[in-house]
Amino acid sequence: MLKFLRGLPKVELHAHLNGSLNTDSIRELAEKVYGAQTADFSTLCEQFVKFEKGAKLDECFEKFGFVHKLTATKQGLEYATELVIRDFAKDHVIYVELRTTPKANEHMSRRAYLQTVLDAIKSARDLYEIRVKLLPSINRGEPIEVAEEIVALAIEFASTEPDIIVGIDFSGNPNQGKFKDFMPALSEAKKHDLKLALHCAEVDNPLEIREMIKFGMSRCGHGTYLTESGYEHLKEENIPIECCLTSNIKSGTVANIGVHHLKQLMEADAPKVLCTDDSGVFDTTLTDEFFLATETFGLTRSQCIALTMEAVEHAFATREEKLLMKMQIYSYTRRQPL
Ligand SMILES: [Zn+2]
Repeated sequence: MLKFLRGLPKVELHAHLNGSLNTDSIRELAEKVYGAQTADFSTLCEQFVKFEKGAKLDECFEKFGFVHKLTATKQGLEYATELVIRDFAKDHVIYVELRTTPKANEHMSRRAYLQTVLDAIKSARDLYEIRVKLLPSINRGEPIEVAEEIVALAIEFASTEPDIIVGIDFSGNPNQGKFKDFMPALSEAKKHDLKLALHCAEVDNPLEIREMIKFGMSRCGHGTYLTESGYEHLKEENIPIECCLTSNIKSGTVANIGVHHLKQLMEADAPKVLCTDDSGVFDTTLTDEFFLATETFGLTRSQCIALTMEAVEHAFATREEKLLMKMQIYSYTRRQPL
Protein backbone atom coordinates (compact mmCIF):
# COMPACT_ATOMS: atom_id res chain seq x y z
CA MET A 1 0.00 0.00 0.00
CA LEU A 2 2.76 2.47 0.94
CA LYS A 3 4.51 1.92 -2.41
CA PHE A 4 1.22 2.41 -4.24
CA LEU A 5 0.55 5.63 -2.31
CA ARG A 6 4.04 6.98 -2.93
CA GLY A 7 3.63 6.58 -6.67
CA LEU A 8 0.05 7.83 -6.71
CA PRO A 9 -0.13 11.30 -8.32
CA LYS A 10 -1.40 13.46 -5.47
CA VAL A 11 -2.95 16.88 -5.11
CA GLU A 12 -2.10 19.10 -2.12
CA LEU A 13 -4.59 21.85 -1.36
CA HIS A 14 -3.61 22.98 2.14
CA ALA A 15 0.10 23.71 2.55
CA HIS A 16 1.63 26.71 4.31
CA LEU A 17 4.90 27.67 2.68
CA ASN A 18 6.88 28.34 5.85
CA GLY A 19 5.58 25.24 7.60
CA SER A 20 6.29 22.89 4.72
CA LEU A 21 10.07 22.87 4.94
CA ASN A 22 11.30 19.55 6.28
CA THR A 23 14.43 19.26 8.42
CA ASP A 24 16.73 18.35 5.54
CA SER A 25 15.44 21.23 3.49
CA ILE A 26 15.91 23.60 6.42
CA ARG A 27 19.52 22.48 6.66
CA GLU A 28 19.94 22.91 2.92
CA LEU A 29 18.35 26.34 3.11
CA ALA A 30 20.63 27.36 5.97
CA GLU A 31 23.68 26.23 4.04
CA LYS A 32 22.59 28.21 1.01
CA VAL A 33 21.74 31.31 3.01
CA TYR A 34 24.53 31.29 5.61
CA GLY A 35 27.19 29.36 3.72
CA ALA A 36 27.83 26.75 6.43
CA GLN A 37 26.09 25.01 9.29
CA THR A 38 26.71 26.21 12.83
CA ALA A 39 26.26 24.27 16.06
CA ASP A 40 23.64 26.77 17.17
CA PHE A 41 21.68 26.20 14.04
CA SER A 42 21.68 22.39 14.40
CA THR A 43 20.33 22.77 17.91
CA LEU A 44 17.55 25.00 16.64
CA CYS A 45 16.70 22.44 13.94
CA GLU A 46 16.28 19.76 16.56
CA GLN A 47 14.04 21.98 18.65
CA PHE A 48 11.94 22.63 15.60
CA VAL A 49 11.18 19.00 14.80
CA LYS A 50 10.85 17.82 18.39
CA PHE A 51 7.14 18.22 18.40
CA GLU A 52 5.73 16.83 21.59
CA LYS A 53 2.59 14.81 21.28
CA GLY A 54 -0.36 16.72 22.64
CA ALA A 55 1.31 20.09 22.21
CA LYS A 56 -1.30 22.81 22.17
CA LEU A 57 -2.21 24.96 19.19
CA ASP A 58 -0.57 28.08 20.64
CA GLU A 59 2.71 26.17 20.96
CA CYS A 60 2.51 25.15 17.28
CA PHE A 61 2.48 28.72 16.19
CA GLU A 62 5.69 29.43 18.12
CA LYS A 63 7.49 26.93 15.86
CA PHE A 64 6.79 29.04 12.82
CA GLY A 65 8.85 31.89 14.22
CA PHE A 66 11.96 29.83 13.66
CA VAL A 67 11.44 29.26 9.93
CA HIS A 68 10.25 32.81 9.48
CA LYS A 69 13.74 33.97 10.46
CA LEU A 70 15.25 31.88 7.66
CA THR A 71 12.87 33.26 5.08
CA ALA A 72 13.21 36.87 6.16
CA THR A 73 15.48 37.77 3.25
CA LYS A 74 14.59 37.73 -0.43
CA GLN A 75 17.22 35.07 -1.11
CA GLY A 76 16.10 32.87 1.79
CA LEU A 77 12.47 33.14 0.72
CA GLU A 78 13.34 32.32 -2.88
CA TYR A 79 15.30 29.19 -1.89
CA ALA A 80 12.65 28.11 0.60
CA THR A 81 9.90 28.32 -2.02
CA GLU A 82 11.92 26.25 -4.46
CA LEU A 83 12.80 23.64 -1.82
CA VAL A 84 9.19 23.27 -0.73
CA ILE A 85 8.06 22.76 -4.32
CA ARG A 86 10.87 20.26 -4.88
CA ASP A 87 9.85 18.28 -1.78
CA PHE A 88 6.21 18.08 -2.87
CA ALA A 89 7.28 17.00 -6.37
CA LYS A 90 9.50 14.29 -4.81
CA ASP A 91 6.42 12.92 -3.03
CA HIS A 92 4.63 12.68 -6.40
CA VAL A 93 2.43 15.65 -5.70
CA ILE A 94 1.44 16.83 -9.17
CA TYR A 95 -0.40 19.95 -8.02
CA VAL A 96 0.11 22.11 -4.96
CA GLU A 97 -1.56 25.25 -3.70
CA LEU A 98 0.88 27.07 -1.44
CA ARG A 99 -0.29 29.60 1.11
CA THR A 100 1.78 32.30 2.68
CA THR A 101 1.30 35.60 4.45
CA PRO A 102 3.24 38.36 2.71
CA LYS A 103 5.47 39.83 5.40
CA ALA A 104 7.06 43.24 5.57
CA ASN A 105 10.43 43.60 7.28
CA GLU A 106 13.69 45.54 6.92
CA HIS A 107 14.56 43.47 3.80
CA MET A 108 11.25 43.40 1.96
CA SER A 109 7.88 45.05 1.57
CA ARG A 110 4.77 42.85 1.32
CA ARG A 111 4.78 43.54 -2.41
CA ALA A 112 8.41 42.38 -2.72
CA TYR A 113 7.61 39.29 -0.64
CA LEU A 114 4.79 38.29 -2.96
CA GLN A 115 6.85 39.05 -6.06
CA THR A 116 9.73 36.92 -4.73
CA VAL A 117 7.47 33.93 -4.08
CA LEU A 118 5.85 34.33 -7.49
CA ASP A 119 9.21 34.46 -9.26
CA ALA A 120 10.44 31.42 -7.35
CA ILE A 121 7.29 29.52 -8.30
CA LYS A 122 7.81 30.38 -11.95
CA SER A 123 11.39 29.07 -11.93
CA ALA A 124 10.54 25.96 -9.92
CA ARG A 125 7.73 25.05 -12.30
CA ASP A 126 10.33 24.62 -15.04
CA LEU A 127 12.47 22.37 -12.85
CA TYR A 128 9.90 19.98 -11.43
CA GLU A 129 6.87 18.18 -12.77
CA ILE A 130 4.30 19.95 -10.66
CA ARG A 131 1.67 22.63 -11.06
CA VAL A 132 1.89 25.33 -8.40
CA LYS A 133 -0.68 27.91 -7.36
CA LEU A 134 -0.46 30.56 -4.68
CA LEU A 135 -2.97 31.75 -2.11
CA PRO A 136 -1.75 34.86 -0.29
CA SER A 137 -2.77 34.47 3.34
CA ILE A 138 -4.47 36.84 5.70
CA ASN A 139 -3.15 36.32 9.21
CA ARG A 140 -6.07 36.96 11.55
CA GLY A 141 -3.63 37.97 14.29
CA GLU A 142 -2.58 41.02 12.27
CA PRO A 143 -4.45 44.35 11.86
CA ILE A 144 -7.26 44.74 9.32
CA GLU A 145 -5.20 47.26 7.32
CA VAL A 146 -2.63 44.55 6.64
CA ALA A 147 -5.39 42.23 5.39
CA GLU A 148 -6.64 45.00 3.12
CA GLU A 149 -3.15 45.53 1.72
CA ILE A 150 -2.73 41.81 1.07
CA VAL A 151 -6.07 41.55 -0.71
CA ALA A 152 -5.22 44.60 -2.86
CA LEU A 153 -1.85 43.04 -3.77
CA ALA A 154 -3.46 39.66 -4.50
CA ILE A 155 -6.00 41.31 -6.83
CA GLU A 156 -3.26 43.26 -8.60
CA PHE A 157 -0.91 40.28 -9.00
CA ALA A 158 -3.75 37.98 -10.05
CA SER A 159 -4.46 40.27 -13.00
CA THR A 160 -0.97 39.59 -14.39
CA GLU A 161 -0.51 36.05 -13.06
CA PRO A 162 -4.01 34.57 -13.11
CA ASP A 163 -2.68 31.06 -13.52
CA ILE A 164 -0.74 31.30 -10.24
CA ILE A 165 -2.67 33.56 -7.84
CA VAL A 166 -6.06 31.94 -7.55
CA GLY A 167 -7.38 32.70 -4.10
CA ILE A 168 -6.96 33.95 -0.55
CA ASP A 169 -6.31 31.93 2.58
CA PHE A 170 -7.61 33.08 5.97
CA SER A 171 -5.48 31.64 8.74
CA GLY A 172 -3.39 32.33 11.83
CA ASN A 173 -4.00 31.70 15.49
CA PRO A 174 -7.76 31.06 15.79
CA ASN A 175 -7.73 32.55 19.26
CA GLN A 176 -6.72 35.92 17.84
CA GLY A 177 -8.76 38.42 15.81
CA LYS A 178 -12.46 38.39 14.93
CA PHE A 179 -13.62 36.91 11.64
CA LYS A 180 -16.30 39.51 11.10
CA ASP A 181 -13.70 42.30 11.10
CA PHE A 182 -12.06 40.67 8.08
CA MET A 183 -15.28 40.17 6.14
CA PRO A 184 -15.01 43.41 4.07
CA ALA A 185 -11.48 42.50 2.90
CA LEU A 186 -12.55 38.95 2.07
CA SER A 187 -15.63 40.24 0.22
CA GLU A 188 -13.37 42.43 -1.89
CA ALA A 189 -11.28 39.38 -2.84
CA LYS A 190 -14.42 37.42 -3.68
CA LYS A 191 -15.68 40.28 -5.85
CA HIS A 192 -12.50 39.97 -7.91
CA ASP A 193 -13.01 36.23 -8.47
CA LEU A 194 -10.45 35.08 -5.95
CA LYS A 195 -11.51 31.85 -4.26
CA LEU A 196 -11.60 31.70 -0.47
CA ALA A 197 -10.03 28.96 1.60
CA LEU A 198 -10.90 29.70 5.21
CA HIS A 199 -9.47 28.04 8.29
CA CYS A 200 -12.76 27.41 10.03
CA ALA A 201 -13.84 25.72 13.26
CA GLU A 202 -10.29 24.96 14.38
CA VAL A 203 -11.44 25.81 17.89
CA ASP A 204 -14.86 25.63 19.48
CA ASN A 205 -16.29 29.06 18.70
CA PRO A 206 -19.94 28.50 17.62
CA LEU A 207 -20.70 32.15 16.86
CA GLU A 208 -17.73 32.57 14.55
CA ILE A 209 -18.34 29.21 12.88
CA ARG A 210 -21.89 30.35 12.05
CA GLU A 211 -20.58 33.68 10.70
CA MET A 212 -18.06 31.92 8.47
CA ILE A 213 -20.54 29.42 7.08
CA LYS A 214 -23.04 32.19 6.37
CA PHE A 215 -20.34 34.28 4.69
CA GLY A 216 -19.35 31.38 2.45
CA MET A 217 -16.10 29.85 1.26
CA SER A 218 -14.81 27.59 -1.47
CA ARG A 219 -13.02 25.25 0.91
CA CYS A 220 -13.03 24.82 4.68
CA GLY A 221 -9.73 24.33 6.48
CA HIS A 222 -9.92 21.72 9.27
CA GLY A 223 -13.59 22.09 10.26
CA THR A 224 -12.83 20.24 13.48
CA TYR A 225 -15.50 21.80 15.66
CA LEU A 226 -18.31 22.00 13.13
CA THR A 227 -21.69 20.92 14.38
CA GLU A 228 -23.83 18.34 12.61
CA SER A 229 -25.75 21.07 10.82
CA GLY A 230 -22.47 22.74 9.84
CA TYR A 231 -21.28 19.51 8.21
CA GLU A 232 -24.63 19.12 6.45
CA HIS A 233 -24.54 22.67 5.15
CA LEU A 234 -21.06 22.23 3.70
CA LYS A 235 -22.13 18.98 2.09
CA GLU A 236 -25.16 20.65 0.50
CA GLU A 237 -22.96 23.43 -0.84
CA ASN A 238 -20.31 20.95 -2.05
CA ILE A 239 -17.67 22.66 0.11
CA PRO A 240 -14.91 20.24 1.04
CA ILE A 241 -13.20 20.05 4.40
CA GLU A 242 -9.44 20.05 4.15
CA CYS A 243 -8.52 17.24 6.55
CA CYS A 244 -5.02 17.42 7.98
CA LEU A 245 -4.76 14.32 10.17
CA THR A 246 -1.26 14.57 11.66
CA SER A 247 -1.56 18.32 12.10
CA ASN A 248 -4.81 17.96 14.04
CA ILE A 249 -3.43 15.22 16.26
CA LYS A 250 -0.06 16.85 16.95
CA SER A 251 -1.59 20.24 17.59
CA GLY A 252 -4.09 18.61 19.93
CA THR A 253 -7.32 19.79 18.24
CA VAL A 254 -8.45 16.17 17.70
CA ALA A 255 -8.03 13.83 20.67
CA ASN A 256 -6.79 10.83 18.70
CA ILE A 257 -6.67 9.62 15.14
CA GLY A 258 -9.47 7.10 15.69
CA VAL A 259 -12.01 9.86 16.26
CA HIS A 260 -10.87 12.14 13.45
CA HIS A 261 -13.82 13.60 11.52
CA LEU A 262 -12.44 12.18 8.25
CA LYS A 263 -14.23 8.98 9.23
CA GLN A 264 -17.54 10.78 9.62
CA LEU A 265 -17.04 12.60 6.30
CA MET A 266 -16.24 9.33 4.50
CA GLU A 267 -19.34 7.66 5.96
CA ALA A 268 -21.55 10.61 5.02
CA ASP A 269 -20.00 10.76 1.54
CA ALA A 270 -19.38 14.45 2.24
CA PRO A 271 -16.74 16.46 0.31
CA LYS A 272 -13.28 16.19 1.84
CA VAL A 273 -9.63 16.38 0.83
CA LEU A 274 -6.52 15.04 2.55
CA CYS A 275 -3.81 17.63 3.12
CA THR A 276 -0.62 18.10 5.13
CA ASP A 277 -1.07 21.67 6.49
CA ASP A 278 2.56 22.03 7.61
CA SER A 279 4.46 18.94 6.52
CA GLY A 280 7.74 20.29 7.92
CA VAL A 281 6.41 21.32 11.30
CA PHE A 282 4.47 18.09 11.72
CA ASP A 283 7.09 15.88 10.08
CA THR A 284 4.80 14.28 7.52
CA THR A 285 4.17 14.01 3.77
CA LEU A 286 0.98 13.68 1.75
CA THR A 287 1.88 10.01 1.19
CA ASP A 288 2.16 9.60 4.98
CA GLU A 289 -1.27 11.21 5.44
CA PHE A 290 -2.86 8.82 2.95
CA PHE A 291 -1.09 5.90 4.58
CA LEU A 292 -2.27 6.97 8.03
CA ALA A 293 -5.83 7.13 6.68
CA THR A 294 -5.57 3.63 5.23
CA GLU A 295 -4.08 2.23 8.44
CA THR A 296 -6.64 3.92 10.69
CA PHE A 297 -9.84 3.72 8.68
CA GLY A 298 -9.06 0.78 6.43
CA LEU A 299 -9.27 2.78 3.21
CA THR A 300 -8.81 0.69 0.08
CA ARG A 301 -6.72 1.64 -2.94
CA SER A 302 -9.92 2.57 -4.78
CA GLN A 303 -10.92 4.89 -1.95
CA CYS A 304 -7.48 6.54 -2.04
CA ILE A 305 -7.84 7.07 -5.79
CA ALA A 306 -11.30 8.53 -5.23
CA LEU A 307 -9.85 10.86 -2.58
CA THR A 308 -7.14 12.14 -4.89
CA MET A 309 -9.72 12.61 -7.68
CA GLU A 310 -11.86 14.55 -5.21
CA ALA A 311 -8.90 16.83 -4.49
CA VAL A 312 -8.54 17.48 -8.24
CA GLU A 313 -12.20 18.43 -8.36
CA HIS A 314 -11.85 20.95 -5.53
CA ALA A 315 -8.55 22.45 -6.68
CA PHE A 316 -8.57 26.10 -7.75
CA ALA A 317 -7.38 24.94 -11.16
CA THR A 318 -8.77 25.40 -14.66
CA ARG A 319 -10.96 22.77 -16.30
CA GLU A 320 -8.10 21.82 -18.64
CA GLU A 321 -5.66 21.44 -15.76
CA LYS A 322 -8.13 19.24 -13.90
CA LEU A 323 -8.61 17.06 -16.95
CA LEU A 324 -4.86 16.62 -17.39
CA MET A 325 -4.45 15.72 -13.72
CA LYS A 326 -7.25 13.18 -13.88
CA MET A 327 -5.64 11.59 -16.91
CA GLN A 328 -2.32 11.42 -15.08
CA ILE A 329 -3.94 9.71 -12.09
CA TYR A 330 -5.89 7.37 -14.32
CA SER A 331 -2.80 6.41 -16.29
CA TYR A 332 -0.99 5.52 -13.02
CA THR A 333 -3.85 3.62 -11.42
CA ARG A 334 -4.73 1.52 -14.47
CA ARG A 335 -1.27 0.00 -14.20
CA GLN A 336 -1.84 -0.91 -10.53
CA PRO A 337 -3.76 -3.89 -9.14
CA LEU A 338 -6.70 -2.66 -7.07
ZN1 LIG B 1 -3.48 25.52 7.89
